[in-house]
This record gives sequence, structure tokens and C-alpha cells, in this order.
Amino acid sequence: MQKTRVKSTIVEIDGDEMARIMWQMVKAKLLMPYLDMNLAYYDLQLKRRDETDDKITLEAAEAIKKFGVGVKCATITPNRDRVKEYNLKQEWPSPNGTIRASLDGTVFRAPILAKNIPPAVRSWKKPIHIGRHAYGDVYKNCEFRVPEAGKAELTFTNSAGKELFRGVVQDFKGPGVIQGIHNTDKSISSFAKACFTYAYDQKLHLWFGAKDTISKTYDTLFRKIFEEEYQKNWKAKFEEAGLNYFFTLIDDAVARIMKAEGGMLWACKNYDGDVMSDMLGSAYGSLAMMTSVLVSPQGYYEFEASHGTVQKHYYRHLKGEKTSTNPMAIIFAWTGCLRKRGELDKTPEVAEFAKKLEEAALETVENGIMTGDLIPVATPDTKNRQVYTEEFIAEVASRLEKKLKQR
Ligand code: NAP
Ligand code: MG
Repeated sequence: MQKTRVKSTIVEIDGDEMARIMWQMVKAKLLMPYLDMNLAYYDLQLKRRDETDDKITLEAAEAIKKFGVGVKCATITPNRDRVKEYNLKQEWPSPNGTIRASLDGTVFRAPILAKNIPPAVRSWKKPIHIGRHAYGDVYKNCEFRVPEAGKAELTFTNSAGKELFRGVVQDFKGPGVIQGIHNTDKSISSFAKACFTYAYDQKLHLWFGAKDTISKTYDTLFRKIFEEEYQKNWKAKFEEAGLNYFFTLIDDAVARIMKAEGGMLWACKNYDGDVMSDMLGSAYGSLAMMTSVLVSPQGYYEFEASHGTVQKHYYRHLKGEKTSTNPMAIIFAWTGCLRKRGELDKTPEVAEFAKKLEEAALETVENGIMTGDLIPVATPDTKNRQVYTEEFIAEVASRLEKKLKQR
């Protein structure tokens, strides 16, 4: 079979543990046999990050800026246990945090819907997309473990050296902890623009939740920038398209989402988006049934699976056991990336390949062939059968092969 040629280079960012194993399988069985691709490969497995003093992560981010489109495997964000496990020089920061800070983007997540995997929430009829602001807040914090009694203050000195603000965070009577976080008008504004653009393109209502009643300066700024962006650039367009923009308190948004029918983009601040996308992912069936893309204001794209490295399955894999780990989100990270590459390069045959691969993957699940995470949440059917990861990928490959021959 003749391979489809992908015109421009794709940045491939490899990762850790079970996600890395699945990544390799997906490439070997579903991509490389059919595509002639030029890949700029960055290996971000933890050991490599440690060896390069994490420079490899920054190089990967730079490569995305150079080539425009990248695809990333899940990586370990080290904590103390990992420092011991991998004998690291230090607790390196989250690679996702580093890449997101470098691209200053918004992460959009959407469920992968299969007919036989009904959402846990009965009212959800349409997908709920999440737009996660990917810059700042606790992901770029400054924190300190307060060892003893003393005073913590927040100060701001402008670039001319003049102190414009000083406030007491806490007068500590004993040990405690403090944290400083920030955001910028520029980043919040591009977050708002990205969300309105995505919602409008995909014909989704836009919801935004924050805690401006408590955080009267910080969250209020987010609310204000969204409202200004809406009034200035979107109100007329949204009304014409029958879409609405809705701001509410984050806790109210959470409560309402559970009763809504879906069909909205839910814009979330960084931490809310981190937590809520996992909730949505598992409510739609599994963490592995969620796509994720980081969109930067300059038009760079990084596609990824939203789940982690699936550490527990990896330890079983290391013991020689076969695992039934779900590669759907990894497959969809690649198809998202290929579709975008095809769109930018004006090579519809690449987008067509992506579409066929997605169909092959969905049909596999809809035919009852699935990994262990989906079996308990699938609509019961006698044809449902749990398979190992390799078998699942082989089933997808055989369906893909048929589709490609049909052309
Ligand atoms: P995780 O890897 O997402 O896995 C949590 C649990 O969710 C798994 O134990 C498994 O449940 C289920 N799961 C997730 N993905 C699955 C899949 N593809 N197929 C089947 N089940 C799946 O999260 P974690 O265990 O909290 O984190 C592990 C490592 O991943 C950490 O080092 C963390 O830093 C990293 N992480 C990376 C990213 C990223 O790079 N994008 C994101 C999140 C976490 P069962 O065990 O019940 O089967
Ligand atoms: Mg998360």
C-alpha cells in the first residue's frame, strides 16, 4: 500500500511508563506503516530530562514554535518518590507546565464519544468541552515553607524601583506555609480570545466560572477581561449564531454542569481546568476517552492525551504481565495532530487518514472490543470483550487497513 506523505515536520515528544509503551505500539502498528512522516523527535522521559538538566523540555517547546504542530506523550512530573525511584538530581518541574508557559496557550479538552459508552451523568446528551487556561496561577508559583513565627508580606516594586504595594499575607505565630501566584493581562486576554474563538468555531455556548466574590482582585480581573472581550468582539456574532456567553461563580458552574445537557465550552482557570477535566474524562467513560490540545495565541498546537503515564499498569507491565490499558487518547492525540498538519499544509489526504483512523478506533469500541477501563461503563452486551492493549491496537489496525483499501 502506498504511504500517505505528511508534508511538514511534526514535533514528536516522547514520555514515560505505560504511556510510552502504548505510544510505541500506536506508532508501529497504526502510523508508520501508512505514513511517510518527518518527525523532530524529543525524548522527554524522566531520565533524559535529568541528564540534560531539563533543557530537552525547553528545546521541545522551541521546536513546536519552529514547526507549528507537535504531539506529546504523557510524562512523569517528579515528586519525592520519583526522585528516589529514578535517582534524580532534583525534583524537575512539570514538563507540561514548562511547555505551556513557553507557548502561553489554552488547553481544550473534549470527550471521545462512543455510542456504547454512555456518560455517567444522565443529562449529558452532547459533549462538554473544557478550555483550560494554561498559564500561571499555582503552576508558576513561588512558595515557601514557613519554619517559625514571623511576618509574610506581598510587595510590588515597579521597574523604576518604586514600591507600589505592600500587604500582610499573614503574621505567623508558628510554622506554616505561603504561596505567591500571578497572571498577566496579556495571558488572560489571549485565554479569553482563544475560548470565544473555539466556542464560536465549534458552535458551543461559552461558560466561564471563577470565584470573584472571594478573590476580589485576582478572579475579578479574569471576569472583567472576559466580559470586555465578549462585549467588544463577540456579542453580535454570538447572538446571531444563537450562542450565549454565561459567567457564574465556579461552584455554581460545577453544580449546573451536572444538570446541563452539554454542548458548551466550559472555560476554566488553570487549576479548575486541571481538576474538572479529569472529572469530565472519567464521567464520559475513562480518562483515556478525552482529547486534549494546547493552542497558543500565535497559532502553535500541541496535541496530547489528557491522562498520565498510567504508572500502576506500567509496574504490572514490568513484572511481565500483559495490561489492558486504553490507547484511545493517544491515538486521538496523533489524529488531531495529523488533521491539523493536513489543514495547515493543505494536504486533505492527511486529514482523511486521520479521519479513517478515528473511525477505525471508534468502531472497535462500538463493536464491543475494549480495554478494561471501558468494560464496566459500557452498555452491557454479550459481544463485549475485554482485550489487552496489543489486541485492541491490532483490531484497530485491521479495521484501518480495510478502510484504506476502500479508497
Ligand atoms: P494516570 O496516569 O492518569 O492514571 C490514573 C488512573 O487512571 C490509572 O491508574 C488507571 O486506573 C486510569 N487510567 C488512566 N489512563 C488510563 C488508560 N489510558 N487506560 C486505562 N486506564 C487509565 O494518573 P496518575 O497515576 O495520577 O499519574 C501517573 C503519572 O502521570 C504521574 O507521575 C504524573 O505526574 C503523570 N501525569 C502526566 C500527565 C501528562 O503528562 N499529561 C498528566 C497527568 C499525570 P486503574 O489503575 O484503576 O486502572
Ligand atoms: Mg489533571
